[in-house]
Amino acid sequence: MTSNLLPLPTVENKPNSICAIATTPAAFTALAPFCSATQTPLWIPSALVSSPVPSLGLTVKVYEGTLRQALEQLWPQHQALVFGLATGAVVRLIAPLLGSKATDPAVVVVDEAGQFAISLCGGHQGGADQLARTVAHYLEATPVLTGSAHHRNLPGIDVLGTPWGWVRGAGNWTGVSAAIARNQPVQVLQEAGSTLWQSALPAEHPFQFGWPEESNPTEASARVWISPIQRRFAEEGPPKVQWHPRVLWVGIGCERGTSQALIDLAITQVFAANHLAVGAIAGIATLDLKADEAGLVGLCQERGWPLRCFSSEQLKAISVPNPSSVVQNAVGTPSVAEAAALTAAHSSAQSVLAEAPQTANLAELRVTKQVIRQEDQPGAVTVAVAQADQEYTGRTGNLWLVGTGPGSLDQITPAAKAAINQADAVIGYALYVDLIRPLLRPGQIVEALPITQERQRAERAIALAHWGLTVAVISSGDCGIYGMAGLVLEQLKTLNWDGTRPGVQVFPGISALQSAAARVGAPLMHDFCAISLSDLLTPWDVIQRRLEAAAQADFVVALYNPKSKTRTQQIEVAQEIFLRHRAPETSVALVQSVYRPEESVQVTTLAEMLQHPIDMLTTVLIGNRSTFTYAGRVITPRGYLGQV
Ligand code: SAH
Repeated sequence: MTSNLLPLPTVENKPNSICAIATTPAAFTALAPFCSATQTPLWIPSALVSSPVPSLGLTVKVYEGTLRQALEQLWPQHQALVFGLATGAVVRLIAPLLGSKATDPAVVVVDEAGQFAISLCGGHQGGADQLARTVAHYLEATPVLTGSAHHRNLPGIDVLGTPWGWVRGAGNWTGVSAAIARNQPVQVLQEAGSTLWQSALPAEHPFQFGWPEESNPTEASARVWISPIQRRFAEEGPPKVQWHPRVLWVGIGCERGTSQALIDLAITQVFAANHLAVGAIAGIATLDLKADEAGLVGLCQERGWPLRCFSSEQLKAISVPNPSSVVQNAVGTPSVAEAAALTAAHSSAQSVLAEAPQTANLAELRVTKQVIRQEDQPGAVTVAVAQADQEYTGRTGNLWLVGTGPGSLDQITPAAKAAINQADAVIGYALYVDLIRPLLRPGQIVEALPITQERQRAERAIALAHWGLTVAVISSGDCGIYGMAGLVLEQLKTLNWDGTRPGVQVFPGISALQSAAARVGAPLMHDFCAISLSDLLTPWDVIQRRLEAAAQADFVVALYNPKSKTRTQQIEVAQEIFLRHRAPETSVALVQSVYRPEESVQVTTLAEMLQHPIDMLTTVLIGNRSTFTYAGRVITPRGYLGQV
């Protein structure tokens, strides 16, 4: 397990890094499970090195001197710190270091007994609430979150746009958060960006969308703008804030050798004159000849903007308001700035999202071409701005393919729990989503789809991940055993996936054959195989051949998908095949809805197995020639006590 399970908001100039600090052996022991599972370095004072601390494959680092001195180094270098220390001590230690909540690292405190993970500081923007939940999963502790939004099952208003890479603009963030905490009505005016967050709100929320109807003009206590426009708010009146989804593509044309400062100035001037927020810039678009233009490349690097370059062939196909024959003669397209802005905005809008409208007019010019020069600077810059339908997130998405085990929450691995809780979006079959609902957190996008729509589920997950979201795709049992993992990877292959974008991680789960076996004893002690009797995707003759081969080779066999309402014959044929190779009294276990409230376990024989109920929630375990039943347990000898 790597620490990329701990995605914290990207903070400029700080690596995505977490460290933990323990000053006593007890605190060391309490933090160890979290640190070893996530490869988080654990700092200890040199005085503790000689103490008999258990070594658990941890990365232990030692500081000399006082913790106060050590923190002066650690604080600016990290995005999050996890202390195994009394909250009072931590408060005193970090007090002199606190700056602003937009830049401070997240601070989580764990008590020495490892019972609580307290989000002390940087709950929303720093990601401490999220980190406290993750730490709690690994320590099996209780997360302690004291922010009001969490308690009301609402996403924090200051982290609302984080999954989509929106940029926080100017405004009274504290005032708006306070209004939400007081449960006062908050007006939301969303002019751009994803509205998925609205679908993730609880039934009771304080938001009113759009302007109030004239007939019912309730005065909102606070206002949230979600828009590419830069608004200046008056001091008086209700508190207001603005988020800027990155929907604006800036088309740039410039003479060779134009300075970075002039390009920067040109963009700033055009944005100011048109009341557009620089935060709403998705990226820069230009002609491919400019891909190495030093000023442009430097500016993009400095601001973290992608530079999209298009050929003159591509650009000349775009119809623009201000074509120029001079430009046409020079570079082979009548427009660079306008055409490039439109092309970039257009292609970003097409980014695989199923619900994005597939019309030709996906982008519009927000600012037509403007030429900016400055007397003391060489060169000239042409700027045009186009607005995309869909925001550029600037994030690399992830697909986390998660096995949720047989049913009950305590049969899920801590890593899988943490993944589900961390993801921006959770996608799965409705029944399994319901089973893991207690693991979800406020603001998460949850999409439960019917059982037959596996392909749609995978496509949707991939689309969201391409866009920049971290998506947990959940399957019951193990995700890679008749689950979603293979399908998602196969589909990625058809999309020419490069292996890294989006990132893919598979989280194993306890498969039905393991849990069924656990319930009846130890039937899988010798060579075994799984065969699914569902012929929806596999031809029946292939299944029959495998049944025959497994029966003949004396494998213990787990039958998945044994019988549905309409598919009743297959299990009968399977029994016949096994009866040809094994004795009628061969042990068979029928395990239904294992680890769920409706669980039922039946130990029977090959001859009598069909006299008991078998359905789609049953796993059938058929013993080999040595398997026996004793005291209600099904046991397959391994050979320790003699020849098998
Ligand atoms: N990925 C899952 C399997 C999905 S196929 C896993 O690894 O377990 C669905 C089949 O799995 C069902 O038809 C049934 O045979 C088996 N199954 C899934 N959950 C089960 C449960 N809780 N109890 C018994 N069988 C189960």
